Amino acid sequence: MTAEQIRQLLLFYQDLGFTELFRRDCPVEQREKAPEEPPAAKAPGARPPATFTSLLDQMAAGEPRESLAQIEAELAGCTRCRLHKGRTNLVFGVGNPQAQLVFVGEGPGAEEDAQGIPFVGRAGQLLTQMIENTAAKEGLPLKRADVYICNVVKCRPPENRTPEKDEMDTCSPFLFRQLESIRPKAICVLGGTAAKALLNTSAGITQLRGKWQNWRGIPVMPTYHPSFLLRGYNAAYKREAWDDLKKLLHYVYG
Ligand code: URA
Repeated sequence: MTAEQIRQLLLFYQDLGFTELFRRDCPVEQREKAPEEPPAAKAPGARPPATFTSLLDQMAAGEPRESLAQIEAELAGCTRCRLHKGRTNLVFGVGNPQAQLVFVGEGPGAEEDAQGIPFVGRAGQLLTQMIENTAAKEGLPLKRADVYICNVVKCRPPENRTPEKDEMDTCSPFLFRQLESIRPKAICVLGGTAAKALLNTSAGITQLRGKWQNWRGIPVMPTYHPSFLLRGYNAAYKREAWDDLKKLLHYVYG
């Protein structure tokens, strides 16, 4: 088997939910559980665990990563799912390709479809404020352009409906490749749809928010989608979203 075939096999088992594997030469005392918390929360001096993540990290070290431009080129003129029929522009992603932090939303809305850029409508303006104002309050010099922002599906669903399962299944491998290309220090999933796509869970966003999760070894912070926070009657949830962001920003940049 080639290294790439082994890597793909490990990713496959990891996506199925396996977190540990045992090598014949791995001493019992090294068989630790995969970290559920971000690495900062680990005991200092802890031994590297025999996890899929550590093996994948070892394999990735020194291997050239796929570029975002390569992935975007593969999506040019995409007709893989029905969403292509209604799009004006495919909305791939925006921001720093070496970002330490990636935000993942659900799918483009009208403004994003018109401009080909994620999170530029009202929800996007709120997201920008959330990032920049929270960072400023915490004394962190962070701008929207420093992070990377993308969505689970790259084409606007009709009437801004939630993407359907088959549409997400078709498009999410491209999201996964974007995340593998960047390999940020942390990911923020905005809302239940993005959480489902990355975390393979049926838990709702109110259950998940504020608690660290994990995607292929990268800590994931789920929080509310800015569109949800824009509805007047949900204003009370803003405080929770701000708390989640604070936790996230301190972990990544603190
Ligand atoms: N909502 C999303 O989930 N993504 C966008 O890009 C805009 C609004």
